Amino acid sequence: MPWAKVLRGKYMSSHSSCSPWLSRGTCSRTWAACKAARPTLDSGLRKVISSGNSTSFWNDAWTSFGTLRSVISSPLNFQEDQRLVAHFLDSNGTWSWENLSFILPQPLLAAINAIPINTGLPSEDLIAWASLKDGNFSLKSAYMLAKGLNVLNPHTFSANWIWKLIAPHKILIFLWLCSYNSIPVREVLGSRGFTINQSCPLCNNHPESIVHLLRECQSSVSFWNKLGLHSKVIQSFELPLMEWLHFNCTCSFPSKHLGIPWKVIFIFGLWTLWLNRNSMAFRRKQQSLDIMQSCIAKAAKFHFLVQGSRSHS
Ligand SMILES: [Zn+2]
Repeated sequence: MPWAKVLRGKYMSSHSSCSPWLSRGTCSRTWAACKAARPTLDSGLRKVISSGNSTSFWNDAWTSFGTLRSVISSPLNFQEDQRLVAHFLDSNGTWSWENLSFILPQPLLAAINAIPINTGLPSEDLIAWASLKDGNFSLKSAYMLAKGLNVLNPHTFSANWIWKLIAPHKILIFLWLCSYNSIPVREVLGSRGFTINQSCPLCNNHPESIVHLLRECQSSVSFWNKLGLHSKVIQSFELPLMEWLHFNCTCSFPSKHLGIPWKVIFIFGLWTLWLNRNSMAFRRKQQSLDIMQSCIAKAAKFHFLVQGSRSHS
């Protein structure tokens, strides 16, 4: 584009030691607008891994949920934050985690395992526009990103609210992965090239999508009904997935259990369904005899011990 050439010539070929993106000198209104839009641009870019030699494992966005450092708050060992993705890949493009000082949460590992690695392509990792499936930039998708909309699914909205919830970190990561359709249920794995039977391991009647697992499967319907739903909560079960999660995770209704807010019961309910699904899929048995009681017990423990101690400190 001619105007891009002009701007590049004027600002990007500067001999100044200071980056033109950071310079505070006078500039045209157009360049000022470009500088203001830079964070949006950065948030829409993603590295596509080939060798992993030019991508920071922790600080570059190469997964579907942004940088790994933004979802892992644990301290890292000396120089561990300088590790490249290549440190964790063998020559066949298979992940190996011996070089990592701690174990990543299981949902993160599963999402990373589902990322295709192009070991046959040029060794340099590529930069793609993550907001579109073909990886090419479009102004419309950048505009939607700037407005906080999920471009690949415009009916959903930004999922940043998840990080403001008070819940165990592993459950926040689970919700975050839901918002990026990255929970490794069978339909998601199938859409990423895995040749597997996509039917739900609980009912065997429907493809196992995230929404099926969390609220459409007969076993999930019965689980939520047994927990006792407030009338307004019942209506929310018609909402699209992310709106449904947002509504229930942030509402202020009480639950019917021990004075625990519904949002706490709900968050632990989602987690219980996921753990129970894994137990059924991999061990062919329920996680506990009564998953509803197990959910209430976990929610009560968190609400009265963890959350309660925070509010009194
Ligand atoms: Zn099912």
